[in-house]
Amino acid sequence: MSHQGNEPEHLSGKDPLCLEIFARLSEYLDGELAAEDCAGIEAHIADCAPCVEFVKQLRASIEASHRFKVPAEPAPVDAALRGKLSQAWSEALARKKAAGQG
Ligand SMILES: [Zn+2]
Repeated sequence: MSHQGNEPEHLSGKDPLCLEIFARLSEYLDGELAAEDCAGIEAHIADCAPCVEFVKQLRASIEASHRFKVPAEPAPVDAALRGKLSQAWSEALARKKAAGQG
């Protein structure tokens, strides 16, 4: 007799909560869930090896994607650099004027 086992073992009805955890985990890691929802997820994860692995992988990929995000606000260095550039520009302009009249 052969088994027909194509489904992942941890998702085959063993613990339906896993599916819910998987569905909400990115919200959980982003801090978008209420404290009680977080507590429920943490309680399940503490006792479920597949979910622990999934959390680890998801957290790693979220951290990786955050690393490549462009900051929403311009960095302070930007303003300083712009000031320097405009100063250099006006100095160059003054020099050009002086040279043209000489
Ligand atoms: Zn689970």
